Formats: sequence, structure tokens, C-alpha cells
Amino acid sequence: METTATNKHPKEILSQYFGYSTFRPLQEEIVNRILNGKDALVLMPTGGGKSICYQVPALCMPGTAVVVSPLISLMKDQVDALKANGIEAAFLNSSMNSGEQQLIEDQLREGKLKLLYLAPERLLSGNTVNLLKLAKISLFAIDEAHCISQWGHDFRPEYTKLGALRQHFANIPFVALTATADKLTRQDILRQLYLTEDDQFIASFDRPNLSLEVRPGRERYKQLLDFIKMRKRETGIVYCLSRKTTEQVAEKLQREGINALPYNAGLTPQERSRVQDAFVNDKVDVICATIAFGMGIDKSNVRYVVHYNLPKHIESYYQEIGRAGRDGLPSDTLLFYTYADLDLLRSFITDDDRKEMQLEKLKRMQEYAEAKICRRKVLLNYFNEYHDQDCGNCDVCKNPPQFFDATILAQKALSAVARVNERVGMVLLVDILRGSQRKEILEHGYDQIKTYGAGADISTNDWLYYIQQLIQLGYIEIAYEAGHTLKLTPASNEVLRNGKTIKMAKADWSFAKKTQETFEPRVTKQKQFETAMFEHMRHLRKQIAEKEQIPAYVVFSDATLKEMVDKLPVNERQLEAISGVGREKLQRYGKVFTQAIRKFIVHATETGIKKVKGSTYLITLEQFEDGKTPYEIGQKREIAEGTVFGHLARLVEDGFTLELDRVLSNDERTKVLKAWQLCGKPEEIAPVYEMLGESVFPSKIRLVIAEHLAKSV
Ligand code: ADP
Ligand code: ZN
Repeated sequence: METTATNKHPKEILSQYFGYSTFRPLQEEIVNRILNGKDALVLMPTGGGKSICYQVPALCMPGTAVVVSPLISLMKDQVDALKANGIEAAFLNSSMNSGEQQLIEDQLREGKLKLLYLAPERLLSGNTVNLLKLAKISLFAIDEAHCISQWGHDFRPEYTKLGALRQHFANIPFVALTATADKLTRQDILRQLYLTEDDQFIASFDRPNLSLEVRPGRERYKQLLDFIKMRKRETGIVYCLSRKTTEQVAEKLQREGINALPYNAGLTPQERSRVQDAFVNDKVDVICATIAFGMGIDKSNVRYVVHYNLPKHIESYYQEIGRAGRDGLPSDTLLFYTYADLDLLRSFITDDDRKEMQLEKLKRMQEYAEAKICRRKVLLNYFNEYHDQDCGNCDVCKNPPQFFDATILAQKALSAVARVNERVGMVLLVDILRGSQRKEILEHGYDQIKTYGAGADISTNDWLYYIQQLIQLGYIEIAYEAGHTLKLTPASNEVLRNGKTIKMAKADWSFAKKTQETFEPRVTKQKQFETAMFEHMRHLRKQIAEKEQIPAYVVFSDATLKEMVDKLPVNERQLEAISGVGREKLQRYGKVFTQAIRKFIVHATETGIKKVKGSTYLITLEQFEDGKTPYEIGQKREIAEGTVFGHLARLVEDGFTLELDRVLSNDERTKVLKAWQLCGKPEEIAPVYEMLGESVFPSKIRLVIAEHLAKSV
């Protein structure tokens, strides 16, 4: 089918409605494909920018785009975000009463909606199909498309019926979108929605703005506390394995004065939505959650994600850390890794036909946590993406392991395992090596063996790290079935008896400390200014969001606020050039934000936080807008009146609109412009000044010309 494309170009739509000047990788190709009436399967990581792929075509094409989305909370936020950009959008779901639904249905039939969001179960009821047939539909977008597959981790039976839609709407483009789909799931989506291999668009899953770090989980609460304290007032999620942990950690953090809340299956639906709202609206800083938290939350300014416990596979780990930094700004992730967690997860795996697969997935998770090469390579490898370069933004890259000859150390450990007849677990073995007096050791006479105390010079933490490596390297095995005791392997004999040498990575915990030091912001004036201004912008955003009852990030994203801090747009023309400021938002918020920025700059200059370039004009502007004459301003600021006119001219040149009738008469304007034209419209003021017989001072001439040029744009 030929889609009757309207004359609007996708790039224009992108800039006019969303305020973005360029498409991200693949977005443009996908948009064009849909505009050509073809289908698409879009695979992009969380935060990759999937929504633009169907929202831009929806705005280019006549009719309404139908978006199938499984989560009611997500629908509302997306519709809010679209409306904030001046786009007619609505949703239909079970949370609305029949009057509200009727209203939306009328709008749909009358062609007033550009996008309509629906839950899948709703879509397939006979009524809805008929309703849609009465309307003009531009395209169908199936969000979270992996829900269609049994192989995906979030199977929803309603989704499998979506294929049937194609019979009803044979000529309308279908676009399916997901952030998580392995090959099997992908094939399933293609098959069930009648898409072809050619329809696939697979974006890189790399999220270079997320830092990656793994630490051993000893004393993890203390480590967590330090980590959070370094990120005051920033938003983060701490994922825990159990409900109890979420509560304990949140409570301890609260006692430290940190604004934290738990989120878990034990809360009532009302409590849960209260926590979510607080999170979305920047009213709580830290959420300690079980894995269910985050689905259906589009918050773009999450600055860190911590895994207090090991996740059960890389898919969920990657999805969870993906909730940080959707706005593309640098964000941190931290995973605590212990053998105890590994064990616990292993014990959760039930004996069924999926057991092998689950164990295999857990093993890959373990390999990631223990990796001694660039972690991002390991991660992306897992998703079949190969990168040559080390990332430079993971703990391994930043602090590469130093290998050393660990043969003697290994011999001590292996010999101890042998001499206790392979009857002890990891922690007890370390205690024996370190010569502990603990009761169990004395009772069993382990203090009598030859290697007792042979490793007293090495700390417990370091020993655990080395034994972990011996396990990874295959010199020790854990007998899970026999109380997790450590056993020797054929390879251990090589070391104990045949003089085989071993290299291991040196234990080095200075990294966490080092990052802490580099993290401490150097308090330069510039930095102080930026931090204060960002806070100020956030505060303004929050006030607006509360008044309009929308999430704060819907007003402007963190990335947009940050760009404001960098570029200091003081009028609407300058604000329009900031990414994320489209036409609607410019109209709605342009005035308050530019005014706030101006005020802030003036304040910073006057209080000596930082003298911002151009602030002198803004001070003049503020006083002029307060009704003062150039003469009065000059008096107050101890500058010449002519200089004040110069400031006004500069302000007009920069795009400000001023009440110039207060300072220029029409006679003056005519006189000056005539002379200027007679001189051949020179850039220099001097010839005009001369022609006027020096009767009007130069900065006033400049002001008249500036006003004239601004009007004729
Ligand atoms: P996803 O649905 O893939 O998780 P979103 O569609 O929510 O991602 O987009 C993530 C963020 O990136 C949003 O803040 C969005 O506005 C922003 N974004 C998307 N496309 C662009 C673009 N072309 N330029 C700048 N920002 C973009
Ligand atoms: Zn790396």
C-alpha cells in the first residue's frame, strides 16, 4: 500500500515536537521504512530511543497510531510525555470509567488522536477491533514485543493473539519493539507477527555511559553506604534478593539520614504505587527493591544501580543496570559478588527440564563477576556483539589486574586442603591458614597440621580472593553436595608434587578507594556554579511538575537541564537550540526557565560565586524591565548612560524583546535609519554618527539599528 505521507519531513517533526536535532543510530532508517508502509522489528537497549521510532512516523502520517503496551503505569507516563510535547495522545485501559472511555473513542473516530495506547487484552475484544476499523489507523506499534514469546522472560498469553490483528489490518505497517530478545525470542516475534528477517533492526546493546564495577561482598552494607554518600541527592536503585534485605537496607540507610524506601512483593498495590510515584517524582532518592521494581518506569535520570546480591542471569542484570542513565549522562553500576549468593541462587533452581539452562545462565553470570578482562566485552559477548577495544569504563579497564607468581601461596592452600582431608569449606580453610584460634579448629585438631598459620601474613579478604581464583583455575572444586567442602582436583597434584607454577591476579582493594577520591568533586568556582545551578533548575522543574501533576522528567530530562547549565540560554531563541526543547515546551516553559537562568546568572555574579560572561547585560536587563531608565541604571551601576544603551543594543541583538518605546522616539528612529540607509547600511556606526552631526550618541544609533534588524528577521 502507498502511504499518503503528509508533507512533513521526519527531521522537522523530530526537532519541532521533540526538540532533537539528529536521529540516533537506526532511528531514521526505521522511521523511513514505516513511512514506506513496511514493517519493522526493533531491538534496542533500554534508553536506546525506541519510542521515537514509531512516534515520529505517527506524526508524519495521517490517522492514528495504535500502540500496544502491557503496562498501565507506562502508558500514562508516555501519554503525559507526548502531551507535554504538544502531541494529541490518549490511552484506553481498565482504570478508566465508561464516560472517560467514551470520550477517547469519540476522539479516535473523529481523527483527533495521533497516538492511542492500548493494553493487549483490550485490543482483541471484538468491540475494539470494530472501533479501530471505523477510524483511520496509521500504524501498529507493539511495545515490549518479547512478551509474545514463551522463551522470553516475561511471557504474556494475550500477546500471542496479536498476530490475528494482521488479518484485520492487512495493509497497515506493524512495528514490534523490545529491549530484550535472544535469537529464539526474536524468531518467535517474527513468526507470530508475520514479519520477515529483513524487517529486523538490531541496535548495539552497548551503553557506554554506564560504568561497570564488581566488588567482593564482604561488609557490603558499609561499602554501599559510602557509595551512596558520595552521590548525595542523586537517584539510585539498590536491587536485593529478598524482601527482608530490602527492608533492612532501607531502614539502615534511613537511620543515616538517607531518603530511602523499600519496594517488594509484600507491599499492597497502593503502597507500591506510592513508592513508584515518589521515585518518579524525585521525592525519594534510593529505592531498595526486589527485581520486580523498575518495570514500567521510564524515569530517565536514575544515576546509579547497585546489585546488593548477584542476579540470576545476565539478561536480568543487564536490564536492571539499564535503568540507570537513560538520558545518556554518565551513571554508575556496582555489583556485589559472593559465593554465598551464588550458592543460594543455585539452590533456588528447581529440578525440572529448564534446570540445565538455568544453571548454565547462572554460570555465565558468575564468569562475568569473576572476569579479569574488560567486563563490557564479556557482557556484549553474551549478546553476540563483539568489540575489539577495551571499554575504559569498567573496573578491570581502570584498574587492570597485576599477575604475580602465586605458586607458593597456592601450595600452602592446596596442602591445607589435603591435610584436613578435604573436610572444610572456604571460610574455615582461610581461618586455618591464618592461624585462627576458633573453637572448631582446636576441636578438630586443625591447629596441628603443618600449614596451620602458614598464611597469617595475608588478610582474610585477600585469601578469599585467591581461593576463588584457584577454584576458577580448576585447582580446587567445591563439593556442593557435601556441605560445600573444598576438594582437590587432578590439576592440584601438578602444583603440589610436580612443581607446576601458577600465576594469579594480585588482590588489590585500592580501586574502590581510588574511585572515591577521584569522585570527590574538586570544588572549583565553576563546579560550584554548575552544581548550584543544576539544583536550581531541578527545583524549578519539580515545582512545575507538581503543579501540572506530571513526572519531573517529563518537563525536561536531566540531559536537557545539564545542557542549560552548560550553555546558559537566557532567552527563548537560545533555549530553542537546546536538545529536548521542542516547540510546545518552548511555549510552555520557555519564559520561566530563561527568566530563572537570567536571575541565577545575575545572582551568581553579584554574590561572587562566579562572574558569568555577559552577566553585566543581564543586570541592565533586569533593571530595565523593572522600569528604570538608562540614566537611572547608569547611576546605580556607576556606568555611563551610553554604556547602558550599548547593553540594550546587545540584548536586542541577542534576541531579547524590550519595550524600546520607553527610550526611543519615532522621530529619532526615522532620523537614524535614514542616515544609516544613506550611508549604505554599514556595519560600523561611525559614518552614521558623523552624518547625523554627532547629535545622537553612537550606542543609541546601534540600538535603533539593532531594533530595525530584529524586526525584519
Ligand atoms: P527506550 O524506550 O528505548 O528505553 P526511550 O524512547 O524512552 O528509550 O528514549 C530514551 C531517552 O532518549 C529519552 O529521554 C528520549 O527522549 C531520548 N532520545 C530518544 N531519541 C533521541 C534523539 N534522537 N536525540 C536525543 N535524545 C533522544
Ligand atoms: Zn572495560
